[in-house]
Amino acid sequence: MATSPMMQQYEAAKATAGDALLLFRMGDFYELFHDDAKLAAKLLGLSLTSRDKGENPVPMAGFPHHQLEQYLAKIVAAGKRAAICEQLEDPKQAKGIVKRDIVRVVSRGTLTDDALLDPQTSNYLAAVRFAGEGETQVGLAWVDISMGRFSATSVDRRAAHDVMTRIDAAEILVADDSSPLPPAWIEGRTITKRPKWDFAIRDAERKLTAHFGTKNLEGFGFTSGETSRDALAIAAAGAVIEYLSETQKTSLEHIDQLHWHSAADSLEIDAATWRSLEITRTLRDGSREGSLLSVLDRTITSMGARLLAEWLAYPLVDAAAIESRLDAVGELIEQTKLAAAIRETLGSIYDIQRLVARVTTGRCGPRDLLFLARTLAALPALKAKLAGRQSALLNGCDERIDLCAELRAKLEAMLADDCPLHARDGGFIRTGADSRLDQFRELTAGGKQWMASYQAAEIERTGISSIKVGFNRVFGYYLEITNTHRDRVPPEYHRKQTLKNAERYITPELKEHEEKVLTAEERGIELELQLFDELRALAATARARLTTTAAALAELDVLAGLAEVARSRGYVRPEITNDSTLVIEAGRHPVVEATEAAGTFVPNDTICSGHEAAEEGESLLLVTGPNMAGKSTYIRQTALLVLMSQVGCYVPARRAIVGIADRLFARVGASDELSRGQSTFMVEMTEAARICNTSTNRSLVVLDEIGRGTSTYDGLSLAWSIAEHLHAIGCRTLFATHYHELTELAERLPRVGCRNVMVREHFGKIVFLHQIVPGSADRSYGIHVARLAGVPSCVTGRAEQILADLEQHGHNASPSASPAASNGKLKSNDRFQLSLFGIETHPVLDEVRAVKIDELRPLDALQLVAKWRASLGD
Ligand code: ADP
Ligand code: MG
Repeated sequence: MATSPMMQQYEAAKATAGDALLLFRMGDFYELFHDDAKLAAKLLGLSLTSRDKGENPVPMAGFPHHQLEQYLAKIVAAGKRAAICEQLEDPKQAKGIVKRDIVRVVSRGTLTDDALLDPQTSNYLAAVRFAGEGETQVGLAWVDISMGRFSATSVDRRAAHDVMTRIDAAEILVADDSSPLPPAWIEGRTITKRPKWDFAIRDAERKLTAHFGTKNLEGFGFTSGETSRDALAIAAAGAVIEYLSETQKTSLEHIDQLHWHSAADSLEIDAATWRSLEITRTLRDGSREGSLLSVLDRTITSMGARLLAEWLAYPLVDAAAIESRLDAVGELIEQTKLAAAIRETLGSIYDIQRLVARVTTGRCGPRDLLFLARTLAALPALKAKLAGRQSALLNGCDERIDLCAELRAKLEAMLADDCPLHARDGGFIRTGADSRLDQFRELTAGGKQWMASYQAAEIERTGISSIKVGFNRVFGYYLEITNTHRDRVPPEYHRKQTLKNAERYITPELKEHEEKVLTAEERGIELELQLFDELRALAATARARLTTTAAALAELDVLAGLAEVARSRGYVRPEITNDSTLVIEAGRHPVVEATEAAGTFVPNDTICSGHEAAEEGESLLLVTGPNMAGKSTYIRQTALLVLMSQVGCYVPARRAIVGIADRLFARVGASDELSRGQSTFMVEMTEAARICNTSTNRSLVVLDEIGRGTSTYDGLSLAWSIAEHLHAIGCRTLFATHYHELTELAERLPRVGCRNVMVREHFGKIVFLHQIVPGSADRSYGIHVARLAGVPSCVTGRAEQILADLEQHGHNASPSASPAASNGKLKSNDRFQLSLFGIETHPVLDEVRAVKIDELRPLDALQLVAKWRASLGD
């Protein structure tokens, strides 16, 4: 079957679109064909029909053009891409088939539309370039085109994982010959394969310099050349630019810099720590609610919300930089009224970061420009409040905020008080702003008035009461007369159209006016579109100033938000030092405190000093205590307070002295993380290896129940030796463990301290006091708890007897079996599991002996076995 010219046009466009769904514009509809139609029917709930019914029906589905945004949202949310193929000429004027072309490819990582983006989170498109076989370097580049931020780096594979975790890209580009991405990078993201030559280094450099209009990339801190350290980063960045120019087909001037991302500029937080501290998302369900970010975020604008997330992702390591943020927060806490006034003004500010991106890419509408004008209108009041502040950061914000007065005046003069989202229908230029437009409008309105009076006059003249002047798109203006009056129609009426009960006529007079009205309306809209373009271009020339202003506004919002949370929650300013001191008096867990009823959280101290501390002290604290006592909460709270301090945030404590950490490690034991369903003992040990290998005496290490993922014997040995190793490094370490035996380390090693969470009995119930005190847990707390829980006294009594027995046996263990032969030998009940069955008088054994097998029914037998297992604590 011969394909129609239009379907040939479709096929050509589809070939360019590749695996993106092709949305083919036909009149007022976007249509999908073939497999795209089948997929769209399922994905978007469209009904599947067919074109060319007959021998070779073509599957087809479509939706009205004004619903594009809502369908794009669905396509993109499903991880798919959509190529939008528009009609490039007016079908009425086209000779032959209407010209069409793809004007934009939309994917998760390239969104600029406000309606499709989460206002509070950055939206990154990333590219990954692996080095050759056997090499470990990885080139990474990432851009948020809704804001214009573009960064790149070359790192080893492990660091790449950390970087990717924090970027949390929406879409990742990889070469089609690339080795597979680690599964953790893929989780829920759109992966887009690109030809491998997109990642070629020499081409990449050429494309980037062409984009930025620079001779080379040295100005951005990148070294040229195929063998340079930065080659992989440049290759990845080149792939990003290539993809954007291919899919966006518009100006990307707002992406005007490439930042070299250096891990050394911020507190190193690896991927596992990032997740387990629940900084921006919770472990359980990945939601923002319940994360540190959700507690600290009191920002007013979405620009502020995004910046705060970034500050948390990259805490500082430079004392001066931290202090200057703290100074600003402090000043805003003191000047309560000023801070409140600033926050109120921020309420009338729009997301001009994303707005500027839409202005540059030409995707903005009249309402965007109106919002820009309103934002600019709020700036003088803000600047007045910032004038003469003490803190350098607040002064800096003041300096960077540019009023763009001329742009504002122009926008305000031109735009109506209320503007539509889209320019296409006009109606957004203020009356009086342009005399030509006013004339067109008067003509249009006057013309319509004329129609009304013409109708009245004709009724009068002819005596036909049913004459109506109307309008339709095909026939234009007409006089309509019902058939009852047909014989009274005057001769100068020319018949135009016949309806069932009426006839429609035209007169030369009406024709003349029709022309005036129609052209005036059309030309008016045309003129408005032209004026809009001029305004947009004017705003685009202010791009750099607006971007700087937006950054300053975001920063001001974050600082004022941090001041607000500090004030309302009673946080204090941490004292920042350059050694490895850590003193927290009456510290609280910021998130647990916020979720619990006010005043119920029990504050705790943490005093811990690394080998670099001014004063010698304990560097490793072993925290023991029964389940649910508060061990995990306590050690995480310490990690979070250090992180918050380095972000420049006040902290929930009575007092805090924080020596700047270079690296932060936090690990939860395998069993605590089982909900993720992927943590194995191997993962736990890989992470432990990393901590042992990379922490320094400036680091902070928080370990929760390490070694739990294997047998008691194994696990204890590992926990013991890891603790010894960290003690030797001298990093600040908080080690929560249920291996009570570890507390013996305190007797053997000089800088190990023991902490214990208090538990009390109150009227026969166990009460968790959540209070951390020096010393190790009461050894028999397990049996103690069992007694409180109502386990029969014969059983708990027997348990005590067994425990005593075990401790004795433990002493007879052969030295070579000791897990810590090198240093501090283990002595106590580490052999618990093994020796259990060496006891001949175990109550279970007695019961086994007593069973009368012949009389036992199968069900009873099963129940007995279950009971024994339960009593063995299995
Ligand atoms: P563990 O790790 O010792 O099993 P968790 O740290 O998980 O215990 O704490 C158990 C529960 O106790 C938490 O859900 C928390 O709500 C509560 N909790 C912990 N520490 C405190 C505290 N200092 N004040 C009040 N409640 C606390
Ligand atoms: Mg715990």
